[in-house]
Amino acid sequence: MNLWRNIKGTFQPFWVTLRYLFKRPVTISYPEQKRTPPPRYRARMILTRDPEGEERCVACHLCSAACPVDCISMQAAERENGRRHAAWFRINFARCIYCGLCAEACPTLAIQMSPEYELSNRDPLKLVWEKEDLLVDHGGKDPDYNFYHHSGIGVVAPRGGNDDELPPVNIKTNLP
Ligand code: SF4
Ligand code: SF4
Repeated sequence: MNLWRNIKGTFQPFWVTLRYLFKRPVTISYPEQKRTPPPRYRARMILTRDPEGEERCVACHLCSAACPVDCISMQAAERENGRRHAAWFRINFARCIYCGLCAEACPTLAIQMSPEYELSNRDPLKLVWEKEDLLVDHGGKDPDYNFYHHSGIGVVAPRGGNDDELPPVNIKTNLP
């Protein structure tokens, strides 16, 4: 019995190798060949723009609060018209675990995951990306969305002037 098991154990690996010798390989020769990930693949983040070409990020810090590894940091600033933006915005991709929680938390759809997965670098400092590296000139997965058309705050339009907003109520007219 032991002899039979030894013979089987010796020849079985050769049989497995032989079976797979004439099958199509499941691996590819990366980096010469590259796979195209699906559009919703969670790789590096981008900072998108609204349909008017303005930066969507309003530096609300929600993404950095949601990030489980604290790899997002920023400094909030305000323009003359009251519109907030990030004076600087930084992501440390050496710490990011690509969980997507930052994109889930973002109320303006500014931060989004992109399918770009080629980020490896021997120097960890080169994995710290600034706003200029992250900012793209399109709206990403929801190009028509503009936070300031829905937020109802009289920053870039008068109160009541946004798409989904009713005119402000004059409470004095409601009094009996
Ligand atoms: S994907 Fe996750 S780990 Fe990476 S920056 Fe966003 S919240 Fe942080
Ligand atoms: S990317 Fe989104 S969640 Fe993060 S600070 Fe900007 S607006 Fe807020």
